[in-house]
Amino acid sequence: MQVITRFPPSPTGYLHLGGARTALFNWLFARKSDGKLVLRIEDTDRQRSTDEATQVILSAMEWLGLDWDEGPYYQTQRLERYKEVIAQLLEQGDAYLCSCTPERLGKLRMEQKDKGIKPRYDGHCRNAGLSRKPGENYVVRFKNPLSGSVSFTDHVHGTVTVQNSELDDLVLERSDGMPTYNLAVVVDDMDMKISHVIRGDDHINNTFRQINLFRALGHPLPEFAHVPLILGSDRKRMSKRNGDVNVLDYRDRGILPEALINYLVRLGWSRGDQEFFTREEMIQHFDFAQINKSSAGFDMEKLLWMNRHYIGQTSIDRLVPEVKKFLSFRMHDLENCPDLGSAIKLHQERASTLVELANQIEYLFKPVKNYDAQALSKHCDEFTAELLQEICIVFSDLECWTQESISTALKTVVRSKKMKFPHLAQPLRIAISGSVQTPSIDATLAVLGCFETIQRTQSFIKYLDKETISPN
Ligand code: GLU
Repeated sequence: MQVITRFPPSPTGYLHLGGARTALFNWLFARKSDGKLVLRIEDTDRQRSTDEATQVILSAMEWLGLDWDEGPYYQTQRLERYKEVIAQLLEQGDAYLCSCTPERLGKLRMEQKDKGIKPRYDGHCRNAGLSRKPGENYVVRFKNPLSGSVSFTDHVHGTVTVQNSELDDLVLERSDGMPTYNLAVVVDDMDMKISHVIRGDDHINNTFRQINLFRALGHPLPEFAHVPLILGSDRKRMSKRNGDVNVLDYRDRGILPEALINYLVRLGWSRGDQEFFTREEMIQHFDFAQINKSSAGFDMEKLLWMNRHYIGQTSIDRLVPEVKKFLSFRMHDLENCPDLGSAIKLHQERASTLVELANQIEYLFKPVKNYDAQALSKHCDEFTAELLQEICIVFSDLECWTQESISTALKTVVRSKKMKFPHLAQPLRIAISGSVQTPSIDATLAVLGCFETIQRTQSFIKYLDKETISPN
């Protein structure tokens, strides 16, 4: 049997984290099984579906690197096919016309609620044998079996069963002629030869109904894996407040797609206590057996931690264009600036997001405007200017400008003065960046360049000469 999975988002909004994880699990299972992933846009809710939402979903899939093998199919382009199946179900007596008005159904619901019973259709038109009359409004309902039970063995939840008496006659076609979700999804899963349905476990109740429909249509059942939902950081249903933003917003906050993918795979699936997986490892090891049965809560701190790891180990060639998007300045407006790749390399292990990385390297490209007052009073005194003057002379005499030559020069001066290294390093940091938050001073100066180092240090000396630095 060829494995064919599907990802069928409704384009009524952006792709959220839960949707992205469903897409990922379908993708992983298809790739692991040498199968196919079908992308299907479930756009029959015309009021709420938009082309823009479809585009946002497709861009998010592309950004995450989740490619599909078939589609995108659009349900609105398959309306004729749904009509055909509805006609077949009517014809074979598995569906019927229902003319109950919304008022009647509303009243029924109220009465059932008052009696404390679960609201459900009472089968009023089930045996009425209605046929269409012009000017009348009908929906088409499925004749759900009245007795017996529906049972299936889910790859995550095991065997689940419901009594048919719990299920009512669901609507297959609305009065405006549009198919409902349950009808369209069964027809599509059947026509697209879907072998495995992997989706959120909020759909389990639909699965029982869909199984009855598959059976009425004489089609073998796909296998099912219902994945527990992702909860918000507060372990409540996800909303914008607790983490559920558009997947592309994570891109815009400087999260790398491989970090988000790794985070999502671990959110609900595990392999021992391994945290980091390459794509190949995920594909190789992904299996239903290791999917958690309970919901996982979204944890931004953990995502940032993973992102920091990925930024740290991503190649500079890949990071350069990514970081460029977040720079607050345009590289081509600058003259004699350090090499962007070297600047990134210097800081890549210190940032949790690409935005942070871009902010961190900014000082290398822009003249220092302010010196941190606290750092000044802590690390500078009346001898600092002279010391910096001396190091500038040493620097200008260096034959080559490398981390090693800078390091040797600094150590030589420190030794000759019998002082501790920070006495020189900290004022230098302030001179070139305004604060003491830079990586190791020799590496930083090597990236900044000899000319810029001396120029910034001279400006700082002038500043110190004007200010009275109080000894600490
Ligand atoms: N369009 C449905 C959703 O977004 C798909 C459910 C399914 O996988 O059958 O929830």
